[in-house]
Amino acid sequence: MFALLVGTGTGIPNPPKYDVRLGDIVVSVPQDNHPGVVQYDFGKYEDDGFVLKGSLNKPPPILLSADGQLVEEEITDRSPLESILQHITNKLGISRPEIEDILFGQNFAHMSQEKDCRKCEEMGGEKVAREARYYPVVHRGLVLSGSGIVRNSIDRERLRRRYKAALCFETKAAGIMDEIPCLVIRGISDYADAHVQEGWHHYAAAVAAAYCKTILCKVDSQKHMILYVPCR
Ligand SMILES: [Zn+2]
Repeated sequence: MFALLVGTGTGIPNPPKYDVRLGDIVVSVPQDNHPGVVQYDFGKYEDDGFVLKGSLNKPPPILLSADGQLVEEEITDRSPLESILQHITNKLGISRPEIEDILFGQNFAHMSQEKDCRKCEEMGGEKVAREARYYPVVHRGLVLSGSGIVRNSIDRERLRRRYKAALCFETKAAGIMDEIPCLVIRGISDYADAHVQEGWHHYAAAVAAAYCKTILCKVDSQKHMILYVPCR
């Protein structure tokens, strides 16, 4: 038995190598001796700084193999992700938000008590220059799981420097990885900073669900018991 942990996460953008954007998909794939998910806040402070305690299980080989097949299909433009996503969004009556995907520079703080970034834009907040993109990209690497929510770019960047292949934060996986083998799939709904990204949550959940279904199409469900675990 294995599980797919599916929901939204907050992105750790690091372009051009890890150009994680709103509406993209992050999949927990082992990197740099880490098992796909790192419980980044579980450890102790020693003389040399913070040291992680323990290590979580890796995702089950059958799901990593299915993801590997999809990598090849993406390269040859044969992935069914786009059609599955279209089916899901049509059924739910949602679409990719027509809101500008703005990533403010890491040193530019949110300038308002309001739940939008109009003031940040009026103040001429530094934006990270990126070419527009209107489709989701699948990123594979580390998911940082912890008990608290990261909502400032200083901590986001500190953890990004510590874990080079870190792609997103979330708060549920660490508690589940050692109970049942699972693959974590997250749709990106914001950038783990203080700025406000209203409007991406539903679409981000839909892209995660679409990738989950794309993976399941590669797994023989007659032979395996699969748990689908939706998480916010
Ligand atoms: Zn802002």
